[in-house]
Amino acid sequence: MSNERPTFSVVAPVYNESGSLMEFYRRTSSVLESTGESWELILIDDGSQDGSTEIIRQLAKEDEHVRPVIFARNFGHQIAVTAGLDYSRGKAVTIIDSDLQDPPEVILDLVAKWREGYEVVFAVRAEREGETAFKLWTASLFYRVIYKITDVKIPMDTGDFRLMDRRVVDVMNRMREHHRFLRGMSAWVGFKQVGVPYKRMARFAGSTKYPFNKMLKLALTAITGFSYLPLQVATILGFIAAGLSLVAAIVVIIMRAVTGAAFLGQASTLIAVLFLGGVQLISLGILGEYIGRIYDEVKGRPLYIVRESPDDFSKPQGENDNG
Ligand code: UDP
Ligand code: MG
Repeated sequence: MSNERPTFSVVAPVYNESGSLMEFYRRTSSVLESTGESWELILIDDGSQDGSTEIIRQLAKEDEHVRPVIFARNFGHQIAVTAGLDYSRGKAVTIIDSDLQDPPEVILDLVAKWREGYEVVFAVRAEREGETAFKLWTASLFYRVIYKITDVKIPMDTGDFRLMDRRVVDVMNRMREHHRFLRGMSAWVGFKQVGVPYKRMARFAGSTKYPFNKMLKLALTAITGFSYLPLQVATILGFIAAGLSLVAAIVVIIMRAVTGAAFLGQASTLIAVLFLGGVQLISLGILGEYIGRIYDEVKGRPLYIVRESPDDFSKPQGENDNG
C-alpha cells in the first residue's frame, strides 16, 4: 500500500469498545473487500482504558489496511473523528461509529451514491433500535432545534455516519475550529449532498459514551458554532423590556393624573427587578459561552495529541529510522 491513495478510507473513533471492536473489524473489512477496491481502516483510540488500545495495535500488526491513531488521552468523539479525517488518504472517506450502531454494510449504499457523483452522502436514521425513549426524544428535539435556529441547513436525524469525497475532506481539514460539530461543518461546505435512509441498530456491546451532559455540550457547540441567534435574543429581550417599561410609565402617569391613585406594591417592583436581573444574567451567560469559545480558539492549542500514529506501525519489524 505505502504511499499511494487507497480508494476508500473508513474512519472509526473508538472509546472503550473492546466488546465490539473485533466484530466491527470483521464486518467492515469484509464489506470493504467486497468492493474490490483498495481501502484503509483508520481506528482512532480516544484514550480507551478497557483494552481497546491493545486490540487496535494487534489488528494493525495483522492487517496492513488498519491504520491506528492512538491519542494521549480522551479528547472526545468529534475530535477523534477529526484526527481520522486528517490521517485519511482515500478518495472517498466514510465516518462510522465503532459500536456497530451504524451497520458497515450501509457503506455500500453510500458508495453507490458517491459513484453517481454526490460528494457528501449522509446516512439518515429512518429507524432506531435499542435506545431509550428519553434518548430518542432528546435526540429528536436536538435535531429540530438545531435545524430551526442555525444558519446552515443541517439535515435532521443525521449523525456523523457519512461518506465524503476527498475534495470535501480537504476543505474540512482546513477548518481547525476547536469546538467542532462535524455534521454542521460538512453541511456548511456545500458541494453535492444527498441522504440515504438506514436503520440504526442497537449497540453490539457496552453502553453509550454520550450521556446527557455530553449531548448538551454538543448541542451548545452546534448552536454557538452555527448561529448568532442566542446573542440576538438578548437584544430582542432588551427592546421588549424597554418597550414594556415605557408603556408602564405612561400608564402610571395617566392613572395618577386621572384617578389620583398611587401605584402600590412592593411585590410588583420586586418581580420586575428580579425578572430583569435574571434576563441580564442569562444574557451574560450566553455572552460567556461565546467568549469562552473565542478564548479556546485564541490559545491555538492543537486539537489533539497523538501518542502513536500510523507511521509508527507501518515499518516492518526490526527496521530502524534512518531509511
Ligand atoms: N467515542 C469516542 N470518544 C468519546 C465518546 C465516544 O471516540 O469520548 C466513540 C465511540 O466509541 C463510538 C462513537 O464515538 O464509536 C459514538 O459514541 P456512542 O456510541 O457512545 O454515542 P451514541 O451512539 O450513544 O450517541
Ligand atoms: Mg453508539
